[in-house]
Amino acid sequence: MHDPANILAMTSWQFTEQAAARGLARSHALELYRTAFREGRFNDLDWVRLEAASIANIVREFDTIKFTQELHGSLETESVVLPHSGSSGRARNTLCVSSQIGCAMGCTFCETAQMGLMKNLSAEQIVGQWFAARFMLNITIDNIVFMGMGEPTDNLDQVIHAIRILADRNGPAIAPARIAVSTVGRAAGIARLADFAREAGFHKLRLAVSINAPNDRIRSAIMPINRAEPMAALMQAMLTWPAHGQRILIEYVLIPGVNDSVEHAAELCEYLSPLHCTVNVIPYNPRRNSPWPAPAEESVASFTKAIAANGQFVKRRQTLGRSVMAACGQLGNPTIRRRRAIQLTTPV
Ligand code: SF4
Repeated sequence: MHDPANILAMTSWQFTEQAAARGLARSHALELYRTAFREGRFNDLDWVRLEAASIANIVREFDTIKFTQELHGSLETESVVLPHSGSSGRARNTLCVSSQIGCAMGCTFCETAQMGLMKNLSAEQIVGQWFAARFMLNITIDNIVFMGMGEPTDNLDQVIHAIRILADRNGPAIAPARIAVSTVGRAAGIARLADFAREAGFHKLRLAVSINAPNDRIRSAIMPINRAEPMAALMQAMLTWPAHGQRILIEYVLIPGVNDSVEHAAELCEYLSPLHCTVNVIPYNPRRNSPWPAPAEESVASFTKAIAANGQFVKRRQTLGRSVMAACGQLGNPTIRRRRAIQLTTPV
């Protein structure tokens, strides 16, 4: 006898197919699916249940909320809700989800990197983060970014399946234009994501790439992936992205004394010149035991200005959640850092 499946791991098409095979009318099955995802209610059946890990911990700083969910084996997912105003002035909420617990990429400026990779999250555990924000915290989620713990292209089957569920019109119904996948920039991963973005219905999926350096020398020093895949290969991969009018988001964590001069800004713009993109300048948030401080406000302003002066679209990210360790590059539970290698395979 198999354990019942989790409805959070199914698209509405998968659910209604399986329900029909068990004699349920499709219209009734669709109603059950919609109620599960729109109201958070579902009466478990012998073959399917609704299960999301409960929230273990919540930390708030102003409107930013970081929450964790405990999984079996006492590992925790970490997610952050970031409120902001949309173009209409209406308050909007972006949910930053984790795709892994820990990360194998080893970026030197990143808190998560210090955990190493502990576990790939399943699609239901990724969707479970949305479910917790929506129905346990009662927050309407407008945008989803895969910018929490982990490298999404390291766990792409589960990430893509989770996006299919999150975008399902009978489910969470978050349009792909409001979902961004942020990657360290592996060429093979970007190519697979690009194939996915060519599928009908997913053309507007957003791609974000962590560049963080204007040249290979600096990038290899702070991002080990660059030693295997230098920036020229990364550019080739980014040029294959089916933009469909969307700009690729280039993330640039600004680290004092490392990558923050106006010369670096000019070199970065030269590198990016073939690409339709926006640079997102992210002031460095010092991780624990960081060798670098946060950048001074004047340095962030002059770097951002230098990017714009080179004719490149640029914006700077507001620094939200720094004191609750919910800011970019700061997710990662220090108490579980040393419990490594519990499960490195993708769960089913
Ligand atoms: S910055 Fe992203 S890819 Fe790099 S170690 Fe941190 S979580 Fe992994």
